[in-house]
Order: sequence, then C-alpha cells, then structure tokens
Amino acid sequence: MAHLLIIEDEPAMQLGLKDNLELEGYQVDLAGDGEAGLNKIISGKYDLVLLDVMLPKLSGFDVCRKARTAGVQTPIVLLTARGEEIDKVLGLELGADDYITKPFGVRELLARLKAILRRSQAATIPGNEETVSIGRLTVNFNTFRTLQDGTEIKLSHKEVEILAYLYKNRNKVVSRYELLENVWGYEEQITTRTVDNFIARLRQKAETNPNNPHIILTVHGSGYKMVL
Ligand code: CA
Repeated sequence: MAHLLIIEDEPAMQLGLKDNLELEGYQVDLAGDGEAGLNKIISGKYDLVLLDVMLPKLSGFDVCRKARTAGVQTPIVLLTARGEEIDKVLGLELGADDYITKPFGVRELLARLKAILRRSQAATIPGNEETVSIGRLTVNFNTFRTLQDGTEIKLSHKEVEILAYLYKNRNKVVSRYELLENVWGYEEQITTRTVDNFIARLRQKAETNPNNPHIILTVHGSGYKMVL
C-alpha cells in the first residue's frame, strides 16, 4: 500500500486526515511544520506528500521548492485555503503536482490521491520507457526525466503530461478543452487560462525562441498543435 506523508500544523486536520487515509489502507507519517516536513520528504521514501501551504518555520511553497531543488520527484499535493487563487498557480510553478482547496470532502481527496498515485505508479513501470525529443527538450514520459540542451531540468508532472498528450496527438490540433479534460480531468476549477499559462511555460523550455514558437503552435480559435 502507498506510503503518504502529511505536512500540516493544525492538529484536528492532521488527525482527521491520518484517520481517514489509514482507514483506506494507506501508511501515513505526519510532520507538523515545514522544516520537519522537508527533512522527511528528503530522507523518506514516500509515494505522495500532502502539503499545507500555511506552515510554521517553512511555508509549503518553500518546502515544495526546496524538495524539487534537492531532486525529489515524489508527487506533492498542496492544501490551499479557499480563495487563494494565486497559491494554486504559484504552487504548480514551484513543482507541486496538484492542489486541493480547504475545506474539502474526504471522497474528493481520496479520488484525487488515487488518480495521482495511479499516474505516478504507471510512470515507473520498468521497460515502459519512452524518450522523445521536443525542440530543446528530451523527455522520458515514464520517468519524467527531462533534459534541456543536454542538461537535466525539472518539469512538473502536469507539464510532462501536457507534453505527452500533445506529442501523442502531434501534428493535429488539440483544443484547450481536450487538454483540460485529459490532463486535469474533473478538476473543474481549472480554466482554459491555466492551460494557456502552462503552454507559455512549456514554450519557454522547449522553444529556441518562445516568442516565435515553431513546435507548440497556437491555432487561433481552435487550440494548440505540436509540430514535429
Ligand atoms: Ca496551516
């Protein structure tokens, strides 16, 4: 069963999450502040981390950024407060894989966790590797390892999933809604603007001249097309 780490400072929330996740059969560890959480992420072998944003000592954002800088690729789900739209965008930019807004229902949380665990487990099946070149990037869609001009860089899971979807449908037009449906699924809070933001970031990484893209093209009124 998957081994989860919960980094959360509110005792009621911490114990509620732990109880519910253990009932589902997960093995759960706890950390009560950002510093302790980061140490555990780096030293532990977790399958997934639930990370509160507002934490003592180190914020969830700092924990996320430092973990990614240290090379940790464990999926991270941020717990954000309602209305903090900026948190979501910033969190994803810092390398979080997903976020869930407080207050949330247990069913929603479990569905989200299962989806992420399924994706990351599918990604680590040995012999299932596929490395492709997309402009300046060389991407392994299964291990998420990415090189830019031969130097390793970190892409978030969502960024790799978008690249994988565009690659699978290369030389065809993919609408924003198709990307939303296939990459984000039922997370209805995500808008087409989020898709556009991700595309802009991917262009920065993949294109020689991001302002004049040759690989991830905008098809006006329709969506995007990866030309390879
Ligand atoms: Ca908190």
